[in-house]
Amino acid sequence: LANKKFHPEPTIVQVGNVFIGGDELVIMSGPCAVESKEQVLETAHAIKKSGAQILRGGAYKPRTSPYAFQGLEEEGLRFMKEAREETGLSVICEVTSLAAIEAAVKYVDMLQIGARNMQNFYLLKEAGKSGLPVLLKRGLSATIDEWLNAAEYIIAEGNPNVVLCERGIRTFETATRNTLDISAVPVIKTKSHLPVIVDPSHATGVRGYVKPLSRCAIAAGADGLMIETHPNPSIALSDGPQSLNFSQFEELCNDLRPFANLA
Ligand code: PEP
Ligand code: MN
Repeated sequence: LANKKFHPEPTIVQVGNVFIGGDELVIMSGPCAVESKEQVLETAHAIKKSGAQILRGGAYKPRTSPYAFQGLEEEGLRFMKEAREETGLSVICEVTSLAAIEAAVKYVDMLQIGARNMQNFYLLKEAGKSGLPVLLKRGLSATIDEWLNAAEYIIAEGNPNVVLCERGIRTFETATRNTLDISAVPVIKTKSHLPVIVDPSHATGVRGYVKPLSRCAIAAGADGLMIETHPNPSIALSDGPQSLNFSQFEELCNDLRPFANLA
């Protein structure tokens, strides 16, 4: 179902009033974690002004350490919905369990399956049944075929609205948090009809590399970008070092505009 052989036309995925996979480059941006209502609303207004169409923010955080901030859960989803109502942006949140999916369908326009859950087949099936479009991040050590098979699990539940997200993979290189596999973009475009976006924030873990890799993603044919932003990255509860502040995000969007059709 994810294979281009049986479905040659590109799939366009509708998320609220945004279309991913068409002529426009879709930028999803926002904090790693929803921390407060003020943080989310401030971020939503700022990213919209710069050209993003979708607000991201994690309410359920799959952290490496069980003692790290785990997210505001349903309260965080509520703040995301309020941001959507205030700005008209579509909103996406990661889900890590069936309970999170059941809560999220009441508040968000798109579900995110994170890298750590890419092969959580039970969760993929439940996301498939949710009726919402799904952003499927590539697993930390997943091959492209494993990733496409994960997409297949969602589509097989009758949900064709899957967007893939390359977010870096584990390699021997330690200079960046992960290694962005930019070749995944043309490989996916060859094998599948699904839209693919790139997340240079999680791929590198370093704010200074977000702009050059965003340019690469567009040159490689990506349908969108996921960029972490925060009102004050130095006090972010997670992923501060890779997050852009609002002026850096605005500068990024302005930098990309000559190469891409941005909102
Ligand atoms: C995220 O987008 O906040 C996230 C946790 O990403 P990943 O699943 O790619 O690590
Ligand atoms: Mn993050």
